[in-house]
Amino acid sequence: MPVYKAPLRDMKFLLNDVFDYPGHYQTLASGENATPDIVDAILTECGRFCEEVLSPIYQTGDEEGCRLENGEVTTPKGYKEAYDQYVMGGWQGLSAPEEYGGQGLPASMGLFKQEMMGTANWSFSMYPGLSLGAMNTIFLHGSEDQKQTYLVPLTEGRWGGTMCLTEPQCGTDLGQVKTKAEPQADGSYKLTGTKIFISSGDHDLTENIVHIVLARLPDAPKGTRGISLFIVPKFLPAADGSVGERNGVNCGSLEKKMGIKASATCVMNFDGATGYLIGPENEGLECMFTFMNTARIGTAIQGVGPAELSYQWALDYAKERRSMRALSGKKEPDQVADSLIHHADVRRMLLTQKAIAEGGRAMLYYAARLADHMVEAHTVGDDEKAEKYDDKLGFLTPILKGFLTELGNEAANLGVQVFGGHGYIREHGMEQIVRDTRIATLYEGTTGIQALDLLGRKVLLMTQGGAVREFTLKIANFARKHLTNKQLRPMAIELLKLTAQWNLLTVRVMLAARKDRDVVSAAAHDFLMYSGYVTMAYMWLRQSAVATDKLENGGDESDAFYQTKLATAEFYYERLLPRAQAHATSMLSPTRNLMQVEPDNMAFTG
Ligand SMILES: Cc1cc2nc3c(=O)[nH]c(=O)nc-3n(C[C@H](O)[C@H](O)[C@H](O)COP(=O)(O)OP(=O)(O)OC[C@H]3O[C@@H](n4cnc5c(N)ncnc54)[C@H](O)[C@@H]3O)c2cc1C
Repeated sequence: MPVYKAPLRDMKFLLNDVFDYPGHYQTLASGENATPDIVDAILTECGRFCEEVLSPIYQTGDEEGCRLENGEVTTPKGYKEAYDQYVMGGWQGLSAPEEYGGQGLPASMGLFKQEMMGTANWSFSMYPGLSLGAMNTIFLHGSEDQKQTYLVPLTEGRWGGTMCLTEPQCGTDLGQVKTKAEPQADGSYKLTGTKIFISSGDHDLTENIVHIVLARLPDAPKGTRGISLFIVPKFLPAADGSVGERNGVNCGSLEKKMGIKASATCVMNFDGATGYLIGPENEGLECMFTFMNTARIGTAIQGVGPAELSYQWALDYAKERRSMRALSGKKEPDQVADSLIHHADVRRMLLTQKAIAEGGRAMLYYAARLADHMVEAHTVGDDEKAEKYDDKLGFLTPILKGFLTELGNEAANLGVQVFGGHGYIREHGMEQIVRDTRIATLYEGTTGIQALDLLGRKVLLMTQGGAVREFTLKIANFARKHLTNKQLRPMAIELLKLTAQWNLLTVRVMLAARKDRDVVSAAAHDFLMYSGYVTMAYMWLRQSAVATDKLENGGDESDAFYQTKLATAEFYYERLLPRAQAHATSMLSPTRNLMQVEPDNMAFTG
């Protein structure tokens, strides 16, 4: 059975050398305890937990799946034991506030942890991942009483959390939510309705589950402005904080699905369930979307994780499996044939996976620094600073979430391809990565919705192109600094051209959209992918700049490590980045090619 190896060397290269996290942590109050040796120890221990505890139950969890019996969900064998170890290690509270039982470390530390856990076993990582969403919501919008009751057991991991948004008639368009909340004399509410696709809706890992639910009050305005947010616990908390009476919320069935089978995806029925309002009436969606940027960075990990895992396993296989001879002559003359890794086409697949995994990881760690500043500003009540960093993150998150999860799917599929027919067979685990990864472009906002958010809201509506101008200026300033370096010059020139083109494309789409309203939806996907390729190119130049410096002046890593960074960057710029031009052409093409066929003429069957 293949195993996961935590990519600690690459992580440390990014943390210490490319993004100077040690220096960054010194600027944060929450970074006081994040000294280099503590960070190192946490990463090493988390890597060990992921390799030894989570990775071995990745495939078995997929085979067994979750079960619903007598209204209770059981997770696959080994999941409860692994979760207990997770709780014992204090992992859930790593970046949670100290006053509610957390360790108060920077948000980025939680992201590094999530990356390793999610790569080793995405299904498992969803249980604590959803709880983090619930914790963030209660932390920001809950009353002090609600925080004391719910946040502490959630932070300790004794209780789990969910986010209950989706209903049968709506996932993207939450303005259509129908679940009702009736006020009660004691200040609580009775919730009635059905939610579908609820991750971790029920399971046997924790003693209680805290559902964060979107519902409508009587006479609430129609659409998104009439939705409120409620806490609905599976068991009502007793006065002493322990688990009390069973509440009227039940798992009606488990969704049968393509992948992440060890993650329980539940239909949840609320039958007059007791709930408590969180945040102001009718402002539930706004409350739910606070911290959405950080949650979406969390989902962007599901682009990087599968690329990493699939690459690790494909690389091992490509070194062992033999097929024919390399075109440039025998590479292993003593063997019956050369191994796959000597064929250029197999190299193309492996290096694509590697460039996506390492380039994507750099994008995540770049954004995580911004998230640290945003969370810290929120915590100390510095609204101006929080808004500034929220805007910066707000521009990057659809790019990260949309682009990286699309590329994660590509990388996972390439992993199957490297294995040939054996990739399609369950034994090797490659097809599982494809199935598990497919969901990443769908939940937390589909790629189409991320693209609309980026182009329609963040770029055109909110900033009239300003967000692109600000980010490209930063990239261009960095590129200019490296024009004189022989090694970096070709990449820097290419990046400078792209920053200019990105702005030009934005203006052209903006002008076209003034004449034709369909332009935004028609151009959005290509705009998102174009933005992703340029952002990743920026990350590869940043990594290359450090690698060049370390080769000259010495660093913690071997020369081979730095040389491979430069070679991977070269591969990225010459073989993957040209795709940006196809997106540029496509985004400017007229909407006519999409809209001219009448819906009735889309097919001529029957
Ligand atoms: C395994 C799994 C786990 C999930 N976990 C949770 C959870 O924990 N909590 C929860 O609340 N939900 C959860 N979901 C639901 C998920 O978030 C939704 O499925 C997702 O938001 C998409 O909604 P939908 O399925 O209704 O698709 P739709 O909204 O019907 O979209 C269908 C397609 O139309 C496109 N589209 C829709 N509107 C537009 C538009 N205006 N312009 C252009 N294109 C558009 C979309 O991009 C998509 O391609 C989960 C789903 C799955 C499958």
